[in-house]
Amino acid sequence: MRTSTPVTLVKIVWQGVTGIGEAAMPPYLGESHHSAGLFLQKAAELRMNEQFDPFTFHLAVDGIAPGNTAAKAALDLAYHDLWGKILGMPLSVLLAVNGQQKASTFTVGIAVPELIRQKIREGLAAGFRQFKAKLGGSDDRAIILAIRQETNLPLFADVNQGWESAEKALEMIHWLKEHNVLFVEQPLKKDDHEGHHRLFEESPLPVFADESCQRLADVEKMAGLFHGINVKLMKCTGLHEALQMVKKARELQLQTMIGCMTETSCATLAGAAIAPLFDYTDLDGPWIIASQPFSTPVLQDGIIVNPGLPGIGYLPAE
Ligand code: MG
Repeated sequence: MRTSTPVTLVKIVWQGVTGIGEAAMPPYLGESHHSAGLFLQKAAELRMNEQFDPFTFHLAVDGIAPGNTAAKAALDLAYHDLWGKILGMPLSVLLAVNGQQKASTFTVGIAVPELIRQKIREGLAAGFRQFKAKLGGSDDRAIILAIRQETNLPLFADVNQGWESAEKALEMIHWLKEHNVLFVEQPLKKDDHEGHHRLFEESPLPVFADESCQRLADVEKMAGLFHGINVKLMKCTGLHEALQMVKKARELQLQTMIGCMTETSCATLAGAAIAPLFDYTDLDGPWIIASQPFSTPVLQDGIIVNPGLPGIGYLPAE
C-alpha cells in the first residue's frame, strides 16, 4: 500500500548563510501544506538576534499559535542548521551530544506475508540490523511469523493504538515475547490511561508511548502508564524540546527512543545527531520514502553515520 505524507522544506537565510528545516506532516497530526504555509507566513515576521539562543527562538515560534508542531519543527531545524553552519560545527558538536550511536530500526508495515518477507529483505539489503513491525490489524501473529521466517535480528512491535483492550494486549504481548520481540509501542488508544496502567503493571515486555506522548508537558504524565517514550521531532516542535524531553524522561526513569515520521534526510540526520542520548534509535525515513531532494544517509552495521558536516549535514541527492 502506498501512502503519502506532505513535506514542507523551510529555509532561513541570515548573513548569506542558509539553514534548511523540514515539516513532515502525517495526516493524523492534522497539518498540511496549507496550514504550514499560513503558520510560516506569521513566523516570517520574527526577527533574529545576533546571538543564537534556541530557547528564546523556541518560545517565540511556539507562541505564534497552538498546534502546528511539524511547522514549528521545520523552523527549529532550520535555525539549528544555520547556527551550526555559521559556527562550522556539526549538530552533535554544537549540542554537545556525547555517547554511542545505536543501530536504527527499519519499519515493516502491515501487509500480506510475502510482501512482509520482501520488505525485510529490502531492509537487510539496505544495511539495517533491527526491525519494527507495525501491528494492530487482524493478522498480527502472521506478520510476526513471516518476519521470523526471514530473520532473528532484534524486533520491536508498534501497534499504533490498534488493540481494543488491555486483556487482548496482554495475551498478545505474552505471545510476542515468546517470539523474541523486545518491546511494544502504543498498544491501546492514546487516552486509555486505565488500560495502559494495567499493562505497565502486568506486561512481560516494556511498553512505549508514542501517540500518548507528544510534547514535553506530556512526559511526566507517562510515569506509571508506560515504561518508555518515543520522541519525534515532528510531534514535539524540534530539537530544542526533544532535548528537554529526553532529560525529563531520564529523571522519571522512563526509557527513551528517538523516532521519525516519513521524513527526508534533513529531519532524519537532525534526529540522528541527538540519537546517542536515547536508548533506542528508530530513524528510517529516507529509506521508506519514494523521493527526496537529499542523498540517503550512510549506514554502517545498521548505524547511521554522522556526516560530520557543519549544521545538519544533509547533502543534495546525486
Ligand atoms: Mg509509533
